[in-house]
Amino acid sequence: MSEGKNVVVTGAAGGIGRATCERLAAAGWQVLAVDHDAGKLAWTQGLANVVALAADVSSEADNQRIAAEAETRFGGVRAAIFNAGIGGGGSIDGLPFAQFQRILGVNLVGPVLGIRALLPLLRRAGGGAIAVTSSTMGVGGEAENWAYSMTKHALIGLVQSLSREIGWEGIRINALCPGPTRTAIAGMEGQDGVAEADLPPHYHSLKRQVPLQRWADPDEMASVLEFLVSPASSYVNGHALVADGGAVVGTGLTL
Ligand code: NAD
Repeated sequence: MSEGKNVVVTGAAGGIGRATCERLAAAGWQVLAVDHDAGKLAWTQGLANVVALAADVSSEADNQRIAAEAETRFGGVRAAIFNAGIGGGGSIDGLPFAQFQRILGVNLVGPVLGIRALLPLLRRAGGGAIAVTSSTMGVGGEAENWAYSMTKHALIGLVQSLSREIGWEGIRINALCPGPTRTAIAGMEGQDGVAEADLPPHYHSLKRQVPLQRWADPDEMASVLEFLVSPASSYVNGHALVADGGAVVGTGLTL
């Protein structure tokens, strides 16, 4: 494996992606922080080893641009974290078709295009690691969240299949399945510092389903993603790592 610690992180404008970039940068990685929200990438300004790139992960041309930027800035990559995602609830006969296609495009087609664009660079590095952000919705389902859930399930199928396809090249691929985490996608934007009692009702109802009785901070997901692309997980491949405070494992009927 190449000695270079160069990594691409998508969905880097906020939440789990930003926390992951900050963690990896602090650990000495050169980070290409990718998001379609150019304005929210401003947090990267002035950081020596974080380069921002505005790109839409659902676009094939933009994924080629991501690979080209990684090549120009770092001379290659040794790790890639496909973390960008969007929600979008709606009943099976109510979710607008265009919204369904957008969810597929960002959550599922995005990582596929990203992997296809960055694989040549990982191969040239002599191997590396890929992580994708799935969800507890990738190992279970939820009423009126079928579109999001199916993309997250599909990511685990992608990880399990590719681990068997590219493992021999020294390229590992794994998934993180976060539980409820205090970020924008979970309706928690702007809630930092808000007293627990004043947080929205869905915060409290979800919290009660988690044995640890709290939501995760984004950095608690970032630490798992860091693990999945670091040598500390060198024999972990094709795995979906659930980090949900015990919510899924503990699921069952209680008397
Ligand atoms: P978030 O909304 O803060 O982050 C998602 C990021 O993806 C945003 O910065 C957004 O701008 C970016 N993005 C959306 N569409 C994009 C596109 N087309 N191209 C490029 N970037 C795009 O929420 P988060 O929780 O940090 O989400 C990160 C990942 O974690 C997502 O894949 C999400 O599905 C997953 N996840 C989150 C939770 C949770 O409770 N927060 C739980 C399970 C899984």
